[in-house]
Amino acid sequence: MGTKAVEILGMDAKVLLDLLNRAYCDEWLAYYQYWIGAKIIKGPMKDAVMAELELHATEELAHALLLTHRIIQLGGTPVTEPKDWYKFTNCGYDAPTDPYVYKILQQNIKGEQCAITTYNKLLEKTRTADPVTYNIVLGILQQEVEHEEDLQALLEDLDLLVAKETK
Ligand code: FE
Ligand code: FE
Ligand code: MG
Repeated sequence: MGTKAVEILGMDAKVLLDLLNRAYCDEWLAYYQYWIGAKIIKGPMKDAVMAELELHATEELAHALLLTHRIIQLGGTPVTEPKDWYKFTNCGYDAPTDPYVYKILQQNIKGEQCAITTYNKLLEKTRTADPVTYNIVLGILQQEVEHEEDLQALLEDLDLLVAKETK
């Protein structure tokens, strides 16, 4: 842990570590939801959507890595037990039980929207209290915003394709 790094915090380290660990759990669940969704997906534009889901899975895992580094830096312990992901998550896990491309896109859009809300709140809390965490969270939020738009654009293309085919 970085002693001075903790000393300069303008907020309670425990509170901050709890928030970071919750986000960390979200990222692992988001990672798996994307990863397994990319494997089982079916329907029109499947290949394009699969490629995007796989890329997002990789990016969620990278978010988990950023969070774990910051948790350790602040003297915390990242959640080590996968069952606890469910306990601490903000956004939960939406199992892709229906492999239809529409359904999977909708589920992941919902997840991204929850991630955006969560990180936006974390930004508010760290803005002046912890600029280092603020900066990390801002980077993650920028990518979640991109994720939402990527998925919504795919859904739009899918709608156009289906509309054209049924003409
Ligand atoms: Fe993420
Ligand atoms: Fe995301
Ligand atoms: Mg993308």
